Amino acid sequence: MLSARQLFLQHQAQTTDFPLLLEVERAEGVYMYGPAGERFLDLISGIGVSNVGHRHPKVLQAIQEQLDKYLHLMVYGEIVQAPPAQLARALSQTLPPGLDNVYFVSSGSEAVEGACKLAKRFTGRSELIAFNNAYHGSTQGSLSLNGSESFKRAFRPLLPDVRHIRHNAEQDLEQISNRTAAVILETVQGEAGVRVPQKEYLQKLRKRCTEVGALLILDEIQSGFGRTGTFWAFEQFEVVPDIVTCAKGMGGGMPIGAFISRREIMHSLKNDPMLGHITTFGGHPVSCAASLATLEVIQTEGLLKEVALKAEQFKQQLVHPAIQEIRNCGLMMAVEFESFAILKAVIDTAILKGLLTDWFLFCDNSMRIAPPLTITMSEIDEACSIILEAIRENVR
Ligand code: PMP
Repeated sequence: MLSARQLFLQHQAQTTDFPLLLEVERAEGVYMYGPAGERFLDLISGIGVSNVGHRHPKVLQAIQEQLDKYLHLMVYGEIVQAPPAQLARALSQTLPPGLDNVYFVSSGSEAVEGACKLAKRFTGRSELIAFNNAYHGSTQGSLSLNGSESFKRAFRPLLPDVRHIRHNAEQDLEQISNRTAAVILETVQGEAGVRVPQKEYLQKLRKRCTEVGALLILDEIQSGFGRTGTFWAFEQFEVVPDIVTCAKGMGGGMPIGAFISRREIMHSLKNDPMLGHITTFGGHPVSCAASLATLEVIQTEGLLKEVALKAEQFKQQLVHPAIQEIRNCGLMMAVEFESFAILKAVIDTAILKGLLTDWFLFCDNSMRIAPPLTITMSEIDEACSIILEAIRENVR
């Protein structure tokens, strides 16, 4: 019989010549376990997904309870289902007043697609503005918004009327005009290698959008659900978006996404022609039940208030001449090395020592540190000592 690894290589689409091929049988909390009992401390969290840890008991319980009722009934809106309705309410309560209308989808890219369609429909405009080094997804619309040319080149023509401006550069804000339907920004850029904007810059961006009637979409797909120490990262910048996108950590390990806006904006989806956005699986009841439990865990287990302290613990210990810079917003963290070659050697050694991490799509000299928010101080100590050992073994 072929092993799972052989079957993967033979029958699953390969997207890189160098897949990691780590075999995992089980995961719990901050750890993943291999077939021979190997243990890996997870500093990736499925790229910001497992914010409450792998298989959080309250998430499992919520899933189990929903499994006993029904799985899938009908496309969006036709049958009232309690899990999405209750989740929509709970999400609204985490957001500034007015952001109380939720459209559920199944992934981050789809949330971005929906948000941009909504902005176009509501404003009657077509231009979308995004930022250098942005990552918003892999579908053709969201791909068009990405700020890295190498990712887009082979797929042109993409969406017309997309303009990219420099991140955190006030001079470029005047390019936002009364032709602009929406500006989309990751509150903290993730795949660019954790780039945190200036607070004043975000506030000026907000002001400019309001002046010209463009909607501000904040992509919280990677930064939301507690990752940065506040439920939404934008809370720390004192700006209020017109549309929020979320996914990843939202489902506690189950697939779900959403775009959220004010009722008067969202209602434009149902006018002329009707059905502005359709999804079969969006708001899947099992994912919504898991998401509601995830939200409650973040709010009731005191995870948010520990994030800054835990990030500081990493920063205090990760001191070595080979580490050039650490950028972070809470537990969304990038540790920069001189080159990809050095970082790759450190990561490979760390994996052998039982620690899983990687680099960023558009920043391959920085190590990702995005553990479950449930990580304990002693697990952080374990992570840091493995990383430092791996550095010592690879850097003279
Ligand atoms: N936006 C951001 C900020 C992301 O980090 C990602 C995923 N890395 C996406 C959108 C796309 O999400 P998905 O992979 O679920 O489509």
